[in-house]
Amino acid sequence: MNKEMLNLGSNRSIIRELFEFSKQRKQEIGEDNVYDFTLGNPSVKPNPKFNETLIKIINAGNDSYTHGYTSAAGDNLTRKNIADDLNKRFNTNYTLNNLYMTCGAAASLCIALRALTESKNDEILAIAPYFTEYKVFAESAGATFKVVKPNMETFEINFDELLKELNPNTKAIIVNSPNNPSGVVYKKESLLKLADILKQKEKEYNHAIYIICDEPYREIVFDGLEVPHIPNLYDDTVVCYSYSKSLSLPGERIGYVLVPDKAYDSKNLYLACLGAGRAYGYVCAPSLMQHAIEQCATLTSDMNEYKKNRDLIYNGLTKIGYECVKPDGAFYLFMKALEPDAYKFMERAKKYDIVVVPSDNFGVKGYVRLAYCVSSKTIINSMQAFEKLYKEYNK
Ligand code: PLP
Repeated sequence: MNKEMLNLGSNRSIIRELFEFSKQRKQEIGEDNVYDFTLGNPSVKPNPKFNETLIKIINAGNDSYTHGYTSAAGDNLTRKNIADDLNKRFNTNYTLNNLYMTCGAAASLCIALRALTESKNDEILAIAPYFTEYKVFAESAGATFKVVKPNMETFEINFDELLKELNPNTKAIIVNSPNNPSGVVYKKESLLKLADILKQKEKEYNHAIYIICDEPYREIVFDGLEVPHIPNLYDDTVVCYSYSKSLSLPGERIGYVLVPDKAYDSKNLYLACLGAGRAYGYVCAPSLMQHAIEQCATLTSDMNEYKKNRDLIYNGLTKIGYECVKPDGAFYLFMKALEPDAYKFMERAKKYDIVVVPSDNFGVKGYVRLAYCVSSKTIINSMQAFEKLYKEYNK
């Protein structure tokens, strides 16, 4: 069998391993006594209108509509309504023909990467810290995966490091803002600077360099901050979106790829996305979900809960003495470990039943990620454990 696949299937991700640890621990000492910050599973309920819509669709009893195949790229009206919503929000002029419905951002990324990759010479860049699966997706698409080292002060894009990595083989760069794991939202100036650099390099290398914009957290931002729509700043952009986080539907597997007309060779790129969807067997995203999105394209879940949790966890931990990056969005907090080796710190935290993910998995050393999409009670109760852990290091 395929050794790479065997390897991927045999090695569970550290996040899954830690999640299993907390599950076991919860059975031993009780749910409320384990402070599990491992998984990015939304804690906020889906928008009630979404469930009402599902029920209405099912009760209408038109089974071939509800459960039948849609076209490979997705239902026309669903795609049209998504395009209309994006146009209103971002002053664009997308149509259904720019959209391909998928089983969430993971499938969108796999499709975009497969559509763009011609050979192993093609390099896909990710900006650290980055979502671990990018490497798996890029390499499965046949590309070479490279990492742009982080700016350890701000966790914004490190342009010196970016310039070191860009070369004639660069095919695309994945941009994820709001960012998992840092919670940072890249500033408009940074994105404009990125756009300028890429435009120059496109001229120099005489080929397109695409931004693959991975934005499942687009709507989870705090303090009135805006997430710039990257295709408005840089033409050669493909957007990978998902309703997993904004509508709290991670298990329903629904999202899309957006190929704007302005992107270089967009018609062929869109066709290549259709081809990649076909090659992967990712045709016709779940019909029931597509039809529900058709009517709920403008909705989100109640994001106030995450803002409340952001304030609780950031203020609580910094008051104890921990150094944290203040999250502007998503539902992750990046905290400096109290020793250089984040794995050792994670192991010591476990003694207090605090479960966090070491940052090495995201291309950064010396930090841990806390997914604060948990109940506020868990955050409040965890503070005494964090305090004990802090004291152990600062005796
Ligand atoms: N990209 C990022 C940055 C994520 O955090 C996740 C999931 O946590 C994904 C992509 C995959 O999302 P989906 O569940 O929609 O496949």
